[in-house]
Amino acid sequence: MTAARPTGALREDPGLAGRGPVVGEMTPLFEDTRYNRQELMAQMGPVGQARLAAARVVVIGAGGVKSSLLYQLAAVGVGFLRIIDFDQVELSNLNRQILFTVDDIGENKAIAAARRLSRLNPCVTIEGIDERVDVDNMDALCGGFDVVVEGGDSVNAREVVNSFALASGTPMVHASAQHGYGYVLTVLPGRTACFRCVFPDLPAGHGQRPGGRPEHRLGRDARRGGGGQARRR
Ligand SMILES: [Zn+2]
Repeated sequence: MTAARPTGALREDPGLAGRGPVVGEMTPLFEDTRYNRQELMAQMGPVGQARLAAARVVVIGAGGVKSSLLYQLAAVGVGFLRIIDFDQVELSNLNRQILFTVDDIGENKAIAAARRLSRLNPCVTIEGIDERVDVDNMDALCGGFDVVVEGGDSVNAREVVNSFALASGTPMVHASAQHGYGYVLTVLPGRTACFRCVFPDLPAGHGQRPGGRPEHRLGRDARRGGGGQARRR
């Protein structure tokens, strides 16, 4: 004999607006939904969650720092994510680029990241684009977003994104990690210093080995930078 279940028509509980129907007397005080734990935070609430759902974020690069960052952006429910990366997944990435597995080796990082994150949160619209950003395609690739996350692997790439952010008025978050440290810089055009203000004399190629390969990084540093980047959004 099965236990009696409360009956009653499906209805929307006003206190749980937007979280789907609940059943009669079974209405829980805190319905266990994907975003419930963060909506309970005073700083977030349903209003903050709705803002996240309406937000459009473009992330340039899906490497170590951006792996952690992208995971968090998708997990918390940022409504639209575009991921741009021209690089392929390599075995040496897997110590810190947490979005990828051995099955992804050889595949474009943006495409692999989008697939992985769609499995994490199907509620988020995610695009993976296999492109290298430059002055000619920045407007087309990054226009119309609420935030651009800069993750280029060269000074030139970073300055292209910085210039775009200033010209378009798009808030930019820049994060980097190498060796034993990392940092996050949020640029609000017209209100804060920009990348060039903070790093006025970086030589071209900074952060790269002579052969053009990025400096080796530990997963711990990448996660630290990515987590900080996510929190500042
Ligand atoms: Zn500046």
